[in-house]
Amino acid sequence: MNMKFDSDQLFTITHEFEDYERQLGAVSPPVYLSSLHVFPSFEEYLKGSGDDDAFFYGRVSNPTARLLEKKLAAMEHGADALVFSSGMAAATSAILATCQAGDHILCMRDSYRPVHAFMANVGTPRLHIEISFVSGTDLDEVKRAIRPNTRLMILESPATFVFSVIDIKAIAALCKEYGVTTYLDNTYSTPLFQNPLDMGIDIVMHTLSKYIGGHSDLIGGALISKDADLIHKMRHGVREWLGGILGPMEAWLAIRGLRSLPARLYMHQDTAMKAARFLESHPKVKSVHYTGLPSHPQAELIKKQMRGHTGLMSFELDREPDEAVKMINALKLFGKGCSWGGFESLALCTMYTASEEAARASGVSRGLIRIHCGLEGADNLVADLAQALDSIV
Ligand SMILES: *Cc1c(COP(=O)(O)O)cnc(C)c1O
Repeated sequence: MNMKFDSDQLFTITHEFEDYERQLGAVSPPVYLSSLHVFPSFEEYLKGSGDDDAFFYGRVSNPTARLLEKKLAAMEHGADALVFSSGMAAATSAILATCQAGDHILCMRDSYRPVHAFMANVGTPRLHIEISFVSGTDLDEVKRAIRPNTRLMILESPATFVFSVIDIKAIAALCKEYGVTTYLDNTYSTPLFQNPLDMGIDIVMHTLSKYIGGHSDLIGGALISKDADLIHKMRHGVREWLGGILGPMEAWLAIRGLRSLPARLYMHQDTAMKAARFLESHPKVKSVHYTGLPSHPQAELIKKQMRGHTGLMSFELDREPDEAVKMINALKLFGKGCSWGGFESLALCTMYTASEEAARASGVSRGLIRIHCGLEGADNLVADLAQALDSIV
């Protein structure tokens, strides 16, 4: 299969940073449901409250959350990590930690929409941080769009509409030259299949709500960097005051999700490859957008940057958007719902409510169908796709 796992990452997931002696030999770490920690003396309390690896108050740090942070930092080859109550809490905290009034953000047009909405509702009108958009695939366009006050570049690769990929190394080097901090949403690949910090990116973001959680039962997010000072600044300059730390139960669920992440991704990719090949060969399907297909327009770049593919893809039918809606409604195993990365298969027309112009700007039609291939088995999912395609005339 077209997939490579890193042995160090597998060790980190299963055993690294676990303190078996302190947890009475339990292989599963305790959920530290405690809002505060006590010290034998006031002097020790004062010392403890200044140390990132000591614990004194649950809004600032928690032992279960800290174990997750250590594992995520190691997996992304970062110096440190921070976990948040959602992916959006992580994303907005990265913006607030790097930008201030008067600054400018460059953002990839095809990136996660709620981040654009945060800027339109809060960042620009209330905090006076400007934002402008570029494709991310054209380096000259990025260079022309950088202003003297550009502080942050927001990236996502692969982006989760048509799964276009950016040249991470090249864009990181260009931004470094202009003193622009780079932020990349690595949720699609998980730390197992792509490590943007090693390609020069300053801050990697993950939502834990997708593959890392993996069971559709938790919301959480993370930021990781090779710059320990930057993480320290985000911990005490932003997260502590916004109060968006991940809860201990969610941290424990994310650690449990990590344990089976390689095994789940193995099956997600196998299933998605079979579904993508089936769709690509179907006469009613015009195009399939999946990073695992040799027909992907950026297949060479993908091979250089990524070590595997997941269960998410999109495709277009050779007919009107309303027929796409009919097709997904005919699917029996694919639930009609947002999100992805869990055990269950999902289908949505993600561009259906967009304007024709917005869809065309992304190079697709409003009938774009995005599917997440869950763990129901390739034969079941391909059969379901086949009967739904047959049902439209
Ligand atoms: C879901 C998602 C997010 C946001 O994560 P939440 O935990 O829902 O806040 C960010 N980026 C991508 C690519 C996502 O799919």
